[in-house]
Amino acid sequence: MIDKIFLDMDGVIVNFRGQCEKYECINGNKVNWEVVHQGGPEFWEEMEWLPEGKELYEWILKLCEQENIDLFILTSVNFTDGKIGKLNWLKNNTKIDKHHIIITNLGKEKEYYADQNSVLIDDFRKNCEAFANGGGQFVKYETPRQTKDDLITLLGKN
Ligand SMILES: [Mg+2]
Repeated sequence: MIDKIFLDMDGVIVNFRGQCEKYECINGNKVNWEVVHQGGPEFWEEMEWLPEGKELYEWILKLCEQENIDLFILTSVNFTDGKIGKLNWLKNNTKIDKHHIIITNLGKEKEYYADQNSVLIDDFRKNCEAFANGGGQFVKYETPRQTKDDLITLLGKN
């Protein structure tokens, strides 16, 4: 029985790539972290929702309320500015309380939160695989539509 959903931020609900493009600090998939760091917490605080990101978040929130599932944000960033910025973004844009926000240093550390009753929603396959290694289940984000469909299927099986 699924009782916890862990939701990633970057590339699932917030437009990390778009923010990098605004700061001109991305080339292909290569991010210039020095520039991100110089942006301070504002780099993260001023990030925009992905198109349909807010709708996806609200849909998941409602599903969790209906199904009695605890919703957590599970995101990673390796420096303090980023952690502060992400916390502020969540405070400004969502109803998630601080006890349901987990910020790890590395994506791989997401697996520490896995158990058989938990699902990770993440756009990064390695994070999904790490979570599965930890004994959890996952929905690999491709599009909002597919994420919803896969989540419904997964909950139906459990
Ligand atoms: Mg991500």
